[in-house]
Amino acid sequence: MSTVPAATSASRKSRPQIDLTVIRREQLSPHMVRIVAGGDGFSDFINNDFVDRYIKIVFPQPGVDYAQPLNLWTIRETMPRAQWPFTRTYTVRWVDAAARELAIDFVIHGDEGLAGPWAAAAQPGDAITFTGPGGAYNPSPDADWYLFAGDEAALPAIAAILETLPPDARGLAFLEVDSDADIQPIAAPTGIQVSWLRRNGVPAGDSDLLVSAVADAQWPDGRVDVFAHGERGYMKALRDVLFVQRGLERSQVSLSGYWAKGRVEDDFQAEKKLPVGKI
Ligand SMILES: Cc1cc2nc3c(=O)[nH]c(=O)nc-3n(C[C@H](O)[C@H](O)[C@H](O)COP(=O)(O)OP(=O)(O)OC[C@H]3O[C@@H](n4cnc5c(N)ncnc54)[C@H](O)[C@@H]3O)c2cc1C
Repeated sequence: MSTVPAATSASRKSRPQIDLTVIRREQLSPHMVRIVAGGDGFSDFINNDFVDRYIKIVFPQPGVDYAQPLNLWTIRETMPRAQWPFTRTYTVRWVDAAARELAIDFVIHGDEGLAGPWAAAAQPGDAITFTGPGGAYNPSPDADWYLFAGDEAALPAIAAILETLPPDARGLAFLEVDSDADIQPIAAPTGIQVSWLRRNGVPAGDSDLLVSAVADAQWPDGRVDVFAHGERGYMKALRDVLFVQRGLERSQVSLSGYWAKGRVEDDFQAEKKLPVGKI
């Protein structure tokens, strides 16, 4: 585990702190848990217009004395970075304004880390604090078809996007999961062909299924809009497929690493800011 929490260019104003309570936990599949959160703090959640909207969940460091109630932005303004709480980035799977609830789907990837183990054990009444939401992607209305590629970490974002596409949208979606048991129902338009790629026991991040599927697919004609997110090594390989082999323009592609095999998020996010870490 890194000892240095990730730096941020966000601010108190651009990414306000939201304090919610876990309402329920749902086991979506062997490797994914949904946390539905709500409570009084929901009034502070200002939804944005991005379909891949994400939040930064706050995990206080054990052994550090934080003033209560915890305020991440005050901590960042007054305490050394080594003592800042850790944060982990998660997609908001859905927001139900009427019920004053939102859902976050967590990959359960073992005992390592903060967010995965927290979600696996979360109970109704537990506190969840985060900042956000941020976001970056909306499907291009000029596209003739859409291409989605992701592993489990990107499944919540891709599922949320598929559910908001117009009913006549066309395209391909490649989703890598561990096995049949991890396949989820997704309300995608009928013109989007959803292909589930099963690793069948190969560890996440070690497979070439996603990259091969995108590289070998018969692409429909016309201008494509791409949303490809997931393990960093996968994304580096996909960068070559998309830009070198397929000759796409930068403006057609949303591509980034959501996690990196063998690295905690703090180290991975720090690397992303270095030239060597950019995809
Ligand atoms: C914009 C954005 C949106 C994201 N949305 C989601 C989301 O909706 N759901 C989701 O589950 N993740 C999502 N992620 C990925 C998530 O932030 C990382 O997986 C994060 O590292 C998990 O934190 P952790 O504390 O569980 O593990 P960490 O402490 O960061 O890492 C501990 C160990 O676990 C490994 N690890 C981390 N993630 C995975 C994984 N998915 N599979 C296998 N091993 C892993 C690491 O390589 C490391 O060895 C998103 C990331 C970004 C940037």
